Amino acid sequence: MAAHPVSHFLISPLSDGAAGLPLSRNKIPSSPKPKVTRQQPFPKISARLDSRPLRAAVIGGGPAGASAAEALAVGGVETYLIERSPSGSKPCGGAIPLCMLEEFSIPADLIDRRVTQMRIFSPSNITADFGRSLRPGEHIPMLRREVLDSFLRRRAESRGAHLIAGVFTSLEPPSPSSFVTEPYLVRYAAGGSPRTLAADIVIGADGANSRVAKSIDAGPYAQAIAFQERIRLPPSQMDRYADLAEMYVGSDVSPDFYGWVFPKCDHVAVGTGTTLAWGDIKKYQAGIRARVGKKIAGGEVIKVEAHPIPEHPRPRRVRGRVALVGDAAGYVTKCSGEGIYFAAKSGRMCGEAIVRVWRGNGGGMVTEGDLRREYLRRWDEEYSGMYRFLDLLQRVFYGSNEGREAMVELCGDDYVQRMTFESYFYKKMAAGDPWKGLGLLGKTIGSLVKAQIVGSWRESEMNQMMY
Ligand SMILES: Cc1cc2nc3c(=O)[nH]c(=O)nc-3n(C[C@H](O)[C@H](O)[C@H](O)COP(=O)(O)OP(=O)(O)OC[C@H]3O[C@@H](n4cnc5c(N)ncnc54)[C@H](O)[C@@H]3O)c2cc1C
Repeated sequence: MAAHPVSHFLISPLSDGAAGLPLSRNKIPSSPKPKVTRQQPFPKISARLDSRPLRAAVIGGGPAGASAAEALAVGGVETYLIERSPSGSKPCGGAIPLCMLEEFSIPADLIDRRVTQMRIFSPSNITADFGRSLRPGEHIPMLRREVLDSFLRRRAESRGAHLIAGVFTSLEPPSPSSFVTEPYLVRYAAGGSPRTLAADIVIGADGANSRVAKSIDAGPYAQAIAFQERIRLPPSQMDRYADLAEMYVGSDVSPDFYGWVFPKCDHVAVGTGTTLAWGDIKKYQAGIRARVGKKIAGGEVIKVEAHPIPEHPRPRRVRGRVALVGDAAGYVTKCSGEGIYFAAKSGRMCGEAIVRVWRGNGGGMVTEGDLRREYLRRWDEEYSGMYRFLDLLQRVFYGSNEGREAMVELCGDDYVQRMTFESYFYKKMAAGDPWKGLGLLGKTIGSLVKAQIVGSWRESEMNQMMY
């Protein structure tokens, strides 16, 4: 099933319906909506699709959208990927888990740094070094997002997806009377003109401020704000960070998260985040800078960036034939603030689910029930336990300086380090050794007792945390 040229399904430009004149340059269609003049008839959509390919619009070309578009295009779905800024760079630390390299065939030359030392600093500047429990070849790959995202988008294009440089503005659902047979109308602006694309399926991969999520009334979610400076260091200082990443915890750095120094090709990314105190983010950024101190003194700030990070999945992630993936769905883990892998994974999982259903039913329409069963349920079965576990860890260890001291003490333990790496690198809840687990539980309680915070935690929560 070959993909049709993009223009076949575009209505361009959107006209005012009366005189057929293009709308003014910056005018974005909003309520009351301008009438669409259909310059070409939409191909009829039926439950059987009349042997034409399924047509999908993916909004947002980050890791989630690019991976979804790739999976759809590979599966023969006619795919349009709408990205508002193909040459932009998402504010991000750019650390990815090792398993992502193989799973998503990320070429080695995209990696800026391979971190083999991870140092974590407690509020009183006690440190734990993570690197010693790494196995040969294990490392944390560090990438710049502009490099990773454009690679993933180009790959999706090379597999048949049509990349459109445009800003999605709104979504018009089919009328209730013919919900199964009519297309969604995806409205976007490109080259200064409003345009419309008709699609059977829409994937919202447009990040934490998702307009697609708003369009389907997906409900609110709590967000953290993350702030980061890219600082170019003189070569002698940069040498220190050749394969070293640092994490700092303490109420001076964040009331509920951690600060980081992540090495990139010719600079370090220094940042922090918070859910509780958005208004104080610059104060906390000053805090992390002060803690890193001389190591970044004299560096040149080459970029300052900030962006929200979702804190939990949205109340609604599928509605009709619209599905949310990545940050738009809320798939960032607590504790680590990790979202790149989960964005790419959820995009791919959703795209593959659509292809599976469409092919499995002989080329017919994919329904809300299909999306719920084949994408959402599978996602939740695989990852909801991990999200709950990391949420609990964040609440225990990031809530006070005592908890943070206890966490750094525990990080010094080889078994804790190995379990952490197993989970982070390979994205599986590490099974572990039950005897060592028991010893660790004792150690954890010991650290928390020392930190005088164990009394506020129920035994069941501790057990849940350890197993
Ligand atoms: C400062 C910071 C540091 C972070 N560090 C890490 C880290 O080290 N490791 C990690 O795993 N995660 C990290 N994260 C989280 C990670 O960045 C996100 O989880 C990840 O980018 C989610 O990918 P996504 O594709 O879902 O969304 P995004 O990467 O946000 O991509 C969304 C895309 O949609 C496009 N878009 C948005 N609106 C529209 C529109 N209306 N029309 C068209 N296109 C649109 C955007 O331009 C963007 O390209 C960090 C986040 C922040 C803010």
